[in-house]
Amino acid sequence: MAASKSPPAKASPTKKSATASSGHGRWDSRDGLEQYLRSPATNPRVLAYNDDFVVIKDMYPKATIHLLILPRDPLKQHQHPVEAFKDQVFFTKLRTEAAKWHSLAAKELARTLCPDTIPERDWESEIKVGIHSFPSMHHLHVHVISRDMHSPYVRHKKHYNSFTTPFFVGLHEFPLEEEDIERRAGNWNKQDMICWRCGRNFENKFTALKAHLEREFEEWKDGLISQTENVQ
Ligand code: AMP
Repeated sequence: MAASKSPPAKASPTKKSATASSGHGRWDSRDGLEQYLRSPATNPRVLAYNDDFVVIKDMYPKATIHLLILPRDPLKQHQHPVEAFKDQVFFTKLRTEAAKWHSLAAKELARTLCPDTIPERDWESEIKVGIHSFPSMHHLHVHVISRDMHSPYVRHKKHYNSFTTPFFVGLHEFPLEEEDIERRAGNWNKQDMICWRCGRNFENKFTALKAHLEREFEEWKDGLISQTENVQ
């Protein structure tokens, strides 16, 4: 369900779209992250929480590892990342939390791919941490996701391109302004689908890309398992 809605062509990232809050009392699936913020202690999808953040497993993971970090500050929850990240105190906390989960996600990836013996290597470089230029879900969240895009939930081009084009903005790339985000997002969903690993251009051929991703996953995994690196 990543980035299932494109923004209007000239949408401002810091202003909500007219449909962002229906106000009709109807449940909106884009409010689906609210449940974790409301009751983190009892929600089985919650991995951890503290005073500032709730961390969950994405319900529709787009890769082998896919977590979401949700800030608990009610003021931040409905802000666009560009707006929220301007608060330096908040952003410093977020970066610290994200660094922790980047590391934990890397360890989990290693355990998942190599349950017997985990090779020593830079697993963190296989994990991306960032946001979608125009998130589809209403509550502010940061993705922590492995690079592989190997998942049955990658069901169409939007799912793929939202994580593999500049529409996905790394947390390390901030601070950014609204214009930067708009420029980066560009026509992200009209762009060709490019294999994240080998760079092959699949244009609009999603079925072919999916078959290719299966093979790339196996090769990526084999490479990670067999190549050890000198990790200091
Ligand atoms: P985006 O808003 O595009 O940055 O991504 C929203 C993410 O939330 C996607 O990766 C979805 O798979 C995920 N998601 C959507 N609904 C839920 C839900 N109810 N619980 C957990 N994750 C969800």
